[in-house]
Amino acid sequence: MSFQSLNIIDPLSRAIAKEGYTKPTPIQMQAIPYLLEGKDLMGIAQTGTGKTAAFVLPILQRMAAEIKAVMPGSPRVLVLAPTRELAAQIDHSFATYGQFLRFKHTAIFGGVSQVPQVRILSRGVDILVATPGRLLDLMNQGIIKLKSVEYFVLDEMDRMLDMGFVKDMRKIVSALPQKRQSLFFSATPNRQTDEFACKLLDNAVRVDAGPQESALDRIDQSVFFVDQVNKDRLLLDLFQKSDMSRVLVFTRTKHRADKVALKLGKSNIRAAAIHGNKSQVQRTRAMQDFKSGRIRVLVATDIAARGIDVDDISHVINYDLPNEPENYVHRIGRTARAGARGVAYSFCEADERDYLHGIERFARIKIGAAEHQYHSERAKNATGAAARPPAPQRSRAILRNARPNKPGPHPIHTVRRAN
Ligand code: AMP
Repeated sequence: MSFQSLNIIDPLSRAIAKEGYTKPTPIQMQAIPYLLEGKDLMGIAQTGTGKTAAFVLPILQRMAAEIKAVMPGSPRVLVLAPTRELAAQIDHSFATYGQFLRFKHTAIFGGVSQVPQVRILSRGVDILVATPGRLLDLMNQGIIKLKSVEYFVLDEMDRMLDMGFVKDMRKIVSALPQKRQSLFFSATPNRQTDEFACKLLDNAVRVDAGPQESALDRIDQSVFFVDQVNKDRLLLDLFQKSDMSRVLVFTRTKHRADKVALKLGKSNIRAAAIHGNKSQVQRTRAMQDFKSGRIRVLVATDIAARGIDVDDISHVINYDLPNEPENYVHRIGRTARAGARGVAYSFCEADERDYLHGIERFARIKIGAAEHQYHSERAKNATGAAARPPAPQRSRAILRNARPNKPGPHPIHTVRRAN
């Protein structure tokens, strides 16, 4: 199927061609026809599947069919995203795909001064991309009104609910007009997302792009059993041995992200850390440096990494395993984008052994163990209390997901063993 067969209007087709896209991705193929008809939609799709264009293109096309004057603080489109990075990225997509149309758009998020945001809003925007906190703030100040919203998008809804935005989301939704087109996207649907969607969507179409399976299949995954004290050595060793051109390293804590970036820097491997304690300016600079190749490694915590949109990530390294199994899939999905192959290495020390079990059960995979000089049998064979981190760190999620028969999104398959 081509973009032409989706009946995309000329200004959008030109933008698509300029981006070099030759055919729609599965989520685009499935969602765009319904969205052009004006249907509500629940889309199951991860970042990396082309889901942003799947909603941005039809929204722009429908708006272009009915041009309206912009009103200060009253957008026609509201997109909610869980993080500032994702909000900025979606806003960027509206700029890219809408470059031959004349809609005004902006992104608002916390952590930066509201003054420039308010200035743009008071001049009027057609499209507003926002994180829930800053949006509510500006709504309470009377700067934003949602009565003119015709298109409402909730992106990464599962993540938003996980992050405790449910009350904020309800407040925002209650300020929206009844008559609107609503589009929700979630990477991993669960009961909570389904309940929320059920209440708010009107006769919605459900589209499942099933991306995780194919993306996961393209990633060579391996686990390195290692003692905590040897993780840095192992990391540096991997950098020496493998051809790791653009690497995303994940840690569970901000402190550790800083430490790892510092350690790499000392070994002349250019790296930067991004996490919630970094200013917006620092985060933006780190992202730009990573994209341009000025730095080779980005060290990130899970939340900071949401919305990272960088193609050609050669390796994802889980310096620490995530405490929520879903995050493993989110993390490694950053490599192997747009059809490419990718590599994911996971370090597992003794007290992360249960996390590894949880991940394998959730994703229905068996991750092969790598042979390496820092191999720890203690880590590999840890059981009982030794296989779990100290109590405060443990997440309820892993217990929840540790149920033996919980259906996972992937068929069982064995992942190749790394050498
Ligand atoms: P997303 O899932 O929206 O984060 O998109 C992931 C990446 O896919 C982005 O870098 C897009 O530029 C790219 N992309 C979106 N649609 C297409 C397409 N039809 N063909 C090739 N790449 C695409």
